[in-house]
Amino acid sequence: MRRPIVAGNWKMHGSVAENSALVNALLQGYPADSPADCYVCPPFVYLRGVARQLEGSAIRVGAQDASAETHGAYTGEVAASMLADVGCRAVIVGHSERRSLFGESDQLVARKFMAAQAAGLTPVLCVGEQLAEREAGQTERVVARQLDAVLDLAGVAALKQAILAYEPVWAIGTGRTATPQQADDVHSFIRARIAGLDGKIAALVPVLYGGSVKAANAGELFAMPNVDGGLIGGASLKAEEFLAILHAARG
Ligand code: PEP
Repeated sequence: MRRPIVAGNWKMHGSVAENSALVNALLQGYPADSPADCYVCPPFVYLRGVARQLEGSAIRVGAQDASAETHGAYTGEVAASMLADVGCRAVIVGHSERRSLFGESDQLVARKFMAAQAAGLTPVLCVGEQLAEREAGQTERVVARQLDAVLDLAGVAALKQAILAYEPVWAIGTGRTATPQQADDVHSFIRARIAGLDGKIAALVPVLYGGSVKAANAGELFAMPNVDGGLIGGASLKAEEFLAILHAARG
């Protein structure tokens, strides 16, 4: 049985004061017996503060990116081991904004995935197609290519300690959500592709949906058999909205 997961990607938003208020509200509203695991992913500079504020709670902290390198002369980079050192449990790798705005290749994302695991973090691997790719009927081809880059480098067993997130690029921050059926179709394609290598791992790996999830549509998305929760951008910055999404994720 896969336990649902709801992760908030705060992107480049927040401040010490705003984060503190948001975390306080989450601490008050997140039930100890929640049926879903919860992660928040603040910008690098706020990780330590947020992790401290969440100490002793069941809400986990993740980062939004990590270097593929372990240490050394890489100005501006942050190593996965450093993220673990300041209290992170997970890290998003391959978010579409990193792929498209910062030119991250499938191979670099795969290296980041491995670096995260080597540091004891759970990678949250994002995959998803652009609108033009969907319209050209290439969704499965693109998702398979992104997934295979990680499978080729890390091996299928690495997915035992990973979270996948299907995030159609056309649905991220646009207010346009994939229909529950569109999401489930791609999630089931991802699971089938992994099952081609290892059926047990395919059945266990959580696959989240991301792309304009909000309280109003979370229930129908999370009700789909292959959707194990959500990676939430904009709506994760509003405590009430994020808590309502968490509430919608029942096992
Ligand atoms: C995201 O950034 O991963 C995301 C899904 O954003 P939004 O929920 O705002 O579409």
